Amino acid sequence: MPNFTPQPRDETIQKDHTLKVSELMMENPRSWNTILLQALFNQDSVNEILKISLAQYNYQNVDDKPIWIHHSSGQFSVKSAYAAITSNSDTTINSIPSNTWKNLWKLKVQDRLKYLCWKILSNIIQTKELLKNFFPIDSDDCICPICQTGIESQEHLFLNCSFTRMLWRQSPWPLNISSLAETMNHWIECILSPNKILGIFSNEEHSFQIFALVAMDSIWFLRNKVVHDAITPDLEMFISQTLKIHKEHCEAWDNVMINNSHNWKAIPKDHHILTFDVAVRENGSTAAAICRKDEGDIDFIQTSFIHSTNPNQGEATALLIGLKAAKEANIQNLIIAGDSLNTIMAANAESHNPDWITQPIMQDIRHMLGTLNSWQLRKIHRDQNRCAHSVAQWAASKLIFGSIPLIFVPPCLLNFHSGKDPLVCLY
Ligand SMILES: [Zn+2]
Repeated sequence: MPNFTPQPRDETIQKDHTLKVSELMMENPRSWNTILLQALFNQDSVNEILKISLAQYNYQNVDDKPIWIHHSSGQFSVKSAYAAITSNSDTTINSIPSNTWKNLWKLKVQDRLKYLCWKILSNIIQTKELLKNFFPIDSDDCICPICQTGIESQEHLFLNCSFTRMLWRQSPWPLNISSLAETMNHWIECILSPNKILGIFSNEEHSFQIFALVAMDSIWFLRNKVVHDAITPDLEMFISQTLKIHKEHCEAWDNVMINNSHNWKAIPKDHHILTFDVAVRENGSTAAAICRKDEGDIDFIQTSFIHSTNPNQGEATALLIGLKAAKEANIQNLIIAGDSLNTIMAANAESHNPDWITQPIMQDIRHMLGTLNSWQLRKIHRDQNRCAHSVAQWAASKLIFGSIPLIFVPPCLLNFHSGKDPLVCLY
């Protein structure tokens, strides 16, 4: 809700009347006081306010605090302020679409690598071709110091240099990159959408993106070594070093994504498996949670509709309704599996709250987890979460919400033993 300020219902509402937000809520269970909201605000404002989730547990211990609504974290930063100012106009910098910048900052790679991309897109990498615009340099001195052929431009170094081309040939994606892209802007677009533009398998996209950026970083590092330390470039060493760095980066990210390696051990005998997902539609989201015993017998299927299209809020709601239903069914030991990394990480630690609007739900989730005997959170691939995914889609299209009797659900949606299912993959 960009630039949202609640609007009074009509002129008769006194604007100078001081009212705390907490006075708009009812207790036990905690909810918005819809009647009071409707008396004070116009319908659009009421609808927006109702989209804000309220925590049910332990909220008395949480202090009020200011929220910077222009960033999902609720924290002020100069970057988000700049983004807020420029987001209303279709601003482009150096003719780079604002979407490219957005996707670049979202990449799951080291910040240093993103910074290098930023410099390349801003055309401020100090290649000899760039420097000769400012200093008198002989054209002989503009030759690439690594391969000694071609003018040292960004495009030469990162696309055409023989070291770069050989590196790619020996990579897991033996691409002829000099034929794929002519400009760095285009190549970075390829890196941002490798599945769409290059046809890289979606499960390899992240590893590919890391490789592409590590490759650029390595070639720029080597170039500086050659120029400033006068070393002789060694192709074999360059390739093996770069492949090694790529592997290290991938492993580091795997550890972040699967927050604990012990998560992948077999499921303990007395545990139930809770999977959850959300189907986001134009007017709201359908959350779904399925719980089953390790043999596959289903304990319950729970769905719920929320008037929000924020996927984080939807995923968190799906997990929360699952946990509540598990508590009602007196299930004490849970393996919780979902494909939303944000939700899995936030459930594990408060510091990982995905955004301020999801925070109250995450608070409830952590409270509910605290009441269980034993639990583990597991991030699974979207393909492995097909059952919860299909049930969410199905409930969204049929508008079936609440505790759903098994007999209502088409059995094909609940086919757990079909290869790509969490049960198979988690063992
Ligand atoms: Zn070269």
